[in-house]
Amino acid sequence: MKKGVYTDLEAEDFLQSFVPVAKHRLVQDMKEAEMAAHSLGFPLVLKIISKDAVHKSEIHGVRLVKNHIDFAHEYQNLMDIVKKKNLHLDGILVQEFVRGKELILGLKKDAVFGHVLLFGIGGIYSELLRDVSFRVCPITEKDAEAMIEELKMHALLSGFRGSAALHVKLLKKVMVAVSKIPGKYPEIQEMDINPFVLNEKKGFVVDARMLV
Ligand code: ADP
Ligand code: MG
Repeated sequence: MKKGVYTDLEAEDFLQSFVPVAKHRLVQDMKEAEMAAHSLGFPLVLKIISKDAVHKSEIHGVRLVKNHIDFAHEYQNLMDIVKKKNLHLDGILVQEFVRGKELILGLKKDAVFGHVLLFGIGGIYSELLRDVSFRVCPITEKDAEAMIEELKMHALLSGFRGSAALHVKLLKKVMVAVSKIPGKYPEIQEMDINPFVLNEKKGFVVDARMLV
């Protein structure tokens, strides 16, 4: 596989053969963008894809678009940012919006343990509380279950205070699948899926980065 830093789009395309990834199209102009929006439907998300912008939201490069009226406006806003910051643009990603809880899945190559899987719940609290769990790869579904239960906030996944229980069975399968990737691609140094969005019925990767 290609060495170096994989953009979000490249990482998502790589991941597609292992785990569910949100539907997306990379577009180069408004006409292509409208065609993509037509096939994906609203709501959707527009993102600046550029090697110059690793953290897209820091440059306001991620926009939720609720309907057709906002679409052209938000597309133009992103193009204005690209121009103003003089970014090298790979394209604008038109991506399906996924409702649900934001989770984090990561891989890291440790000098002693080899590849390690990280799991956490997204948002500021996971950073604040360091609420994450780790296992050496590959893991089993039982390990995945233990990793989930180790989190202080695990109740958020199983129907906390009347909210619907999320599709934890799918999550476990996804965790196992991610943990098996380094067995096939040992050259992966780091992978950061942030977030994987999970709801009661489905779950998709909506953003990823990778270092090979
Ligand atoms: P970055 O991490 O580069 O700033 P992301 O693609 O992760 O950009 O988008 C930033 C945030 O926007 C995500 O953490 C998530 O909260 C939200 N988001 C992005 N894409 C989607 C999507 N397809 N569906 C739902 N929420 C999304
Ligand atoms: Mg992200």
